[in-house]
Amino acid sequence: MIIAIDGPAASGKSTVARALAKRLGAGYLDTGAMYRAIAAEALMRGVPLDDADALARLAGSARIAIEREAGSSLPSRVLLDGRDVTGEIRTPEVDTAVSPVSAVPGVRAAMVRVQREIGATGDWVVEGRDIGTVVFPDAAVKVFLTASADERARRRVVDMARLGASVDVDEMRRRIETRDQYDSSRTASPLRPADDAVGLDTTGMTIEHVVDALAAMAERR
Ligand code: C5P
Repeated sequence: MIIAIDGPAASGKSTVARALAKRLGAGYLDTGAMYRAIAAEALMRGVPLDDADALARLAGSARIAIEREAGSSLPSRVLLDGRDVTGEIRTPEVDTAVSPVSAVPGVRAAMVRVQREIGATGDWVVEGRDIGTVVFPDAAVKVFLTASADERARRRVVDMARLGASVDVDEMRRRIETRDQYDSSRTASPLRPADDAVGLDTTGMTIEHVVDALAAMAERR
């Protein structure tokens, strides 16, 4: 069974998807981490972000692995061609580069192929932007999570503080809104809810509350 969780930046997808996967005993796939890994590799190799062919070649040949760390039940380490890029994919540089990289159709085709291969292996909670619309249109449960831009910025600032980075909330809101604008207006698989997705505005909701609602949906399937 596939549970597709889509939504804009920092809408709580990762936190909720991880908790839900744990509760259901399913796998957890963070497709954003895959696009981030390609963007990080492009930056490292100096591939111009407007060179669609070079980016598609890079994505087509990259081996991305998302692994479990010792003691953790869900995967959290991201490797690209064996190189650990877990920290690198969360930098402000990658935040800025990832939207143009993920807008390239050849990059998306390579990532979607891998995502479908993984999804075919069992029960997965998959989070991203196009999971319910493109990657798994037949997903058993489709959810589109949103939250106000202020709340999303506040949540992301708290996440970054845990990683030791201090970012101003207004600056974070600007970055999030720029990324959402880019992701929603691209031609290839734009960010939008699937017609049959359940929309959930999580502003003011606790994680437990959201996970309870999603687990109930999964159990009804
Ligand atoms: O989920 P996260 O914010 O880490 O995603 C980073 C970026 O990757 C998004 O802003 C978007 O550009 C891209 N992405 C995508 N399709 C997905 C997941 C992420 O285009 N399924």
